[in-house]
Amino acid sequence: MTRHIRTPASGAFATRPAQFEHANPPDQDRAREAAKALFARLGGDAAKLRDLIERAGLTLDDPRLGCLRAAVEGAGGGVVGEDAFCATMSEAEAGLIGRLADGDLAIANFPVFKTRVAGLFDYAAGADWGEMRSAIPALAKRDPDAFAMGVCSIDGQRFRIGLRDGDEKTDFSLQSVMKAVNYGVALELVGTELYHRHVGREPSGQGYNEITLDERKRPHNPMLNAGAIITCSMIHPTWQVEARHDFVSRIWRAGAGGAEAGFARDIYESEASGSDRNYALSYFMREHGCFPEGSDLHEALDLYIRCCSIESDVDRLSAMAATLANGGVCPLTERHVFSRQTVRHVLSLMLTCGMYDFSGEFAFQVGLPAKSGVSGALMIVVPGVAGFAVYSPRLGPKGNSVRGVEFSRRLVEAFPWHVYAPVMVDPDLARPDSAKA
Ligand code: GLU
Repeated sequence: MTRHIRTPASGAFATRPAQFEHANPPDQDRAREAAKALFARLGGDAAKLRDLIERAGLTLDDPRLGCLRAAVEGAGGGVVGEDAFCATMSEAEAGLIGRLADGDLAIANFPVFKTRVAGLFDYAAGADWGEMRSAIPALAKRDPDAFAMGVCSIDGQRFRIGLRDGDEKTDFSLQSVMKAVNYGVALELVGTELYHRHVGREPSGQGYNEITLDERKRPHNPMLNAGAIITCSMIHPTWQVEARHDFVSRIWRAGAGGAEAGFARDIYESEASGSDRNYALSYFMREHGCFPEGSDLHEALDLYIRCCSIESDVDRLSAMAATLANGGVCPLTERHVFSRQTVRHVLSLMLTCGMYDFSGEFAFQVGLPAKSGVSGALMIVVPGVAGFAVYSPRLGPKGNSVRGVEFSRRLVEAFPWHVYAPVMVDPDLARPDSAKA
């Protein structure tokens, strides 16, 4: 499915016009024709229009539906006039509403999808074991029993659910989930070749904070602490650390649907005052010449800890996962956050290295690119379809959210999304004449 994805040749961050802002003046006549045809088809009943939008998994506060929102709200629940409906509607907005009315969004039958996903969530809720194993004291104080899931399709259809009231709105620090995003950021800034001169792309087979390097004296990959610290050293190394943190937060925000990135200051302070392992790792790396010229160990580490403390909820995290699923364009903000090539690299390493030293097992069982963090956060990408986010802080022996892994397993049992799911389809059974056999 290629619609919606317009990726530039090079990946400058979020400076390109949003998809619905036109470089050339929009064609008003064509937009008006499209809007009139839609109005003739859908009618002006405000309640029905609202229902149509919501059943498809969109909401009227979606920035892409600005004209429709104004018309429906202006009608105060009554009848929307044709003029109001067509007033400022762009071709893009009319196109989105048209596809929605045709059932042609990425997830065609959203109500059924929601019911099935909620069922998987309920199953996963039963996996209520695991420990808060974090060495970060402030993180260990979070509610261990929170459980939430969010999904965002590449067309921006959304759904979130929590086990208890309010769980679905809980903020959590991203921790290692941010490693995948920062890897994309660094690739955009320095390019693949230079980046991978400093960081490898093999699973290490060892713990995430192990003091170890590959045979070329590089961290094994960007998804481990060692690689993630070197990644941070490549993000605008000459800037003040606060400005670097702001820069990363802005990219996070563009990819995560446009809402402000939170920051868990207590977790940042807690980790900053007790980061012995990460310091040891950094000095070890400096001894081996791992840091790029011109970068500073202390600042790189500070930025790394700040990035781990960026806060999200499942809504924002699923939007970021959907940006990756959508080839680097955020479905909600329409911002080009990453180039397609960057996304391909990020997803490749999420698939092979994203789940700590459980990555091979996760690839075997689930077959989807994912990244987890010690806070219990997990993002799962279904390329070309949707992004999922799970939050549940109880961790299994390898440091992944127990319920997150359980939910992922159930997901690929219910939907044919494992990377090798196509080989499960018997072509003989798919032939029309097979019924005669
Ligand atoms: N801030 C954590 C650390 O550096 C992140 C670990 C993780 O989520 O894997 O140890």
